[in-house]
Amino acid sequence: MIIVMRSDATEEKLQHVLERVQELGFKPHLSRGEKKTIIGVVGNGKVVDSSVFQAIPGVESVMRILQPFKLSSREFKEVSTEIKIGHVTVGGKQVVVMAGPCAVETREQMLASAEAVSSAGAKILRGGAFKPRTSPYSFQGLGEPGLVILREVGDQFGMPVVTEVVSPQDVKLVASYADVLQVGARNMQNFSLLEEVGKTRKPVLLKRGLMATVEELLMSAEYILSNGNPNVMLCERGIRSFEKYTRNTLDISAVPIIKTLSHLPVIVDPSHAVGKRDLVAPVSKGSVATGADGLIIEVHPDPERALSDGAQSMFPADFADLMDEMKHIAEAVKRTI
Ligand code: PEP
Ligand code: MN
Repeated sequence: MIIVMRSDATEEKLQHVLERVQELGFKPHLSRGEKKTIIGVVGNGKVVDSSVFQAIPGVESVMRILQPFKLSSREFKEVSTEIKIGHVTVGGKQVVVMAGPCAVETREQMLASAEAVSSAGAKILRGGAFKPRTSPYSFQGLGEPGLVILREVGDQFGMPVVTEVVSPQDVKLVASYADVLQVGARNMQNFSLLEEVGKTRKPVLLKRGLMATVEELLMSAEYILSNGNPNVMLCERGIRSFEKYTRNTLDISAVPIIKTLSHLPVIVDPSHAVGKRDLVAPVSKGSVATGADGLIIEVHPDPERALSDGAQSMFPADFADLMDEMKHIAEAVKRTI
């Protein structure tokens, strides 16, 4: 349910409504917009008569949210959410490109990656330290020493960093190094992990599961939002289909669909979607054209020797060309890069 406050309601009245919501056994989620202040009321499966809220002074109207996802829906919040990550804003006019290798391997590899992607215009540095690999025999990441390298290199280049967290016990550790916590496709429905990242205020990059519908992705976002963390970015990274030419099938229509259903920023990961370096550029351009708020792209200084995902990692020079080309596409859809 959404409570819309009257525009002339005082702060005192607003606080009173928040208290009443809690007294009635619900959790209030406050959203202060430029035009409207609204309170999301989600609760514990209880049915409540909306007239209880309608009677509180300062309340303009009370509405039910029809979608199963509540806090992530546009019904709850009409205005698109902007997320601040250091000096970078995701969800505004600028299409934010996050780039770097699949995994942190060495300090030298990260320095070369950061140099390449930042000079080409990427704003956020990526690199996995905890890698959820399909095979237990594949490189699993450097763990905390990888986080140390990522942080140091990010700071050296003035870039916020994004890295994956795979288990609830590691959330505090990863959050102490990273600016953005990535929840991987394989963990999209790891509800205890979602709750744990929801208890932090760190921006979260929530990736769509391999077999997940858009609605399931939004329901997972709901776990994070309802735990108090409003900083969620949704990531389309390709889903399983019968098509074998690509690693996954990029659901490009998910971009405008999610932008319609939700106020949260949408990021596309073209690299894991296609799995082949040569296809990354065209689908990246398509993603910007369809309204993505950002991209997360794998770039490696020496893809041939990458410890993971070398085949889909771009060469730095090709990445720089792509960034140039995307500027024109961004301009055509009234964005910048
Ligand atoms: C990754 O970003 O390196 C990754 C493993 O992605 P996904 O969870 O989308 O497979
Ligand atoms: Mn990867």
